[in-house]
Amino acid sequence: MSRRKKIYEGKAKILFEGPEPGTLIQYFKDDTTAFDATKKAILEGKGVVNNQISGFIMQNLNAIGVPTHYIKTMNMREQLVREVEIIPLEVICRNVAAGSISKRLGIEEGTPLPRSIVEFCYKNDALHDPMVAEEHITAFNWASTQEIDDIMALTLRVNDYLFGLFGGVGIKLIDFKIEFGRLYEGDMVRTVIADEISPDSCRLWDMQTNEKLDKDRFRRDLGNVTEAYVEVARRLGILKQAAGGESMH
Ligand code: C5P
Repeated sequence: MSRRKKIYEGKAKILFEGPEPGTLIQYFKDDTTAFDATKKAILEGKGVVNNQISGFIMQNLNAIGVPTHYIKTMNMREQLVREVEIIPLEVICRNVAAGSISKRLGIEEGTPLPRSIVEFCYKNDALHDPMVAEEHITAFNWASTQEIDDIMALTLRVNDYLFGLFGGVGIKLIDFKIEFGRLYEGDMVRTVIADEISPDSCRLWDMQTNEKLDKDRFRRDLGNVTEAYVEVARRLGILKQAAGGESMH
């Protein structure tokens, strides 16, 4: 078997060349970083559970007509995805104040927002992903006005879907971050959801206790990070038995 060609290595995932042109293999690592990668750890089994959670969510989004890059899950740590051109934005959608909006605007964490708020950040680690306005996005050609409209509409649909999905299993969706890509199909280009949707990129609080079931457990040294992610997967009913020496505890 020949070695697969690595296309890109990020902080939590690796992209390899896929089996067909226009496809990639997305590999979920156990590596975890926060605060622009100044805080790092390897959380055993995290990649396995994020692969399952993200695959499940992306598959359901595809099924309800929200286009994503996801094609299928290959194994414990890998999924087959469509190759897209990543739009250099981190799109954040918030339902309840937490994290940076609480700090920035002085709103106590846990305060429900008057409506869902979508924010755009320029995806650039060296600049610490600064928040930007539509003005910057169009002026610097990061995305077109049409793409921004698509991104807004898709983000709100994802929010509705995730809010209901998690709400149904006793989890409050505080906020989440998603990324988008351009999918080229002949002479057509479509805006689709890319990257991942997992407890690494969402804030998820237990409805009853407000216990954090997301990456804030790592950021804030609360411990039991992977265990919390596994609990999210368990509640969603998607916990598969670990195989091939992979342990999820
Ligand atoms: O830090 P902040 O409050 O802006 O984060 C909002 C949401 O976006 C959180 O769910 C966080 O996990 C996610 N996020 C992310 N990647 C980043 C920044 C934020 O997944 N680089």
